[in-house]
Amino acid sequence: MSPREIISNALREGRIKLLEHEAISVIKSYGIPVAEAYLAKNVEEAIEIASKIGYPVVLKIVSPDISHKSDVGGVIVGINSPDQVREAFNKIMENVPKKAPNARITGILVQKMAEKGGIEVIVGGLRDNVFGPVVMFGLGGIFVEVLKDVSFRVAPLTHEDALDMIKEIKARKILEGYRNTPPVNKEALADIIVKVAKLLEENPEIDSLDLNPIIAYPDKAIVVDARIILKKR
Ligand code: ADP
Ligand code: MG
Repeated sequence: MSPREIISNALREGRIKLLEHEAISVIKSYGIPVAEAYLAKNVEEAIEIASKIGYPVVLKIVSPDISHKSDVGGVIVGINSPDQVREAFNKIMENVPKKAPNARITGILVQKMAEKGGIEVIVGGLRDNVFGPVVMFGLGGIFVEVLKDVSFRVAPLTHEDALDMIKEIKARKILEGYRNTPPVNKEALADIIVKVAKLLEENPEIDSLDLNPIIAYPDKAIVVDARIILKKR
């Protein structure tokens, strides 16, 4: 399905949050690199998908009512065998109803696990009443949530603007390599930022979007979690 179809389908069903696999599909169609993932409705499907995409995999709850999947025990990483898929699937199905009793469950996303050694960053987007589409960049974890170390730009923006945003955060040195950690590929991150701005400009129904985290490496960057919220109508 095209981004337009996914968005209008969600609105028709009265949903303002795209489901995990829908959000992934939207960003993928904008050329944003994202970890391969498919929706499983049962354990057998999950095992089949895992063997198709290759281990290790990550399992994640998919629900129109859940925004922060790990808060409800809905994310299990580092799964290495069919037996572990079965175990993780059942564990998530047990965890989620305890923490979110009324949440509808669509299924479980089986996703390729990103390689170790990357740095987690965040690209966000929102629609400001005055400025229109605005994009945000920051490092994952405490850097955004506690230190608020982020940079913003109003769309449209060039690749150079996006590179400037990356260089503007206080923690930029972490991206430039330290001790045994090599520098990350800033070009790949800038490319994602520019595409997020374009996505917001071309899809006015999107209210906000979060790629959190994107895992940055010396040679590439890959999105492992995408949240897209539509405007209330
Ligand atoms: P949520 O933000 O809804 O809690 P995420 O999909 O972001 O759920 O998963 C929680 C955390 O698990 C991420 O911040 C990341 O550290 C890790 N993670 C998720 N998916 C992957 C993946 N495919 N590869 C490696 N790590 C992952
Ligand atoms: Mg996340």
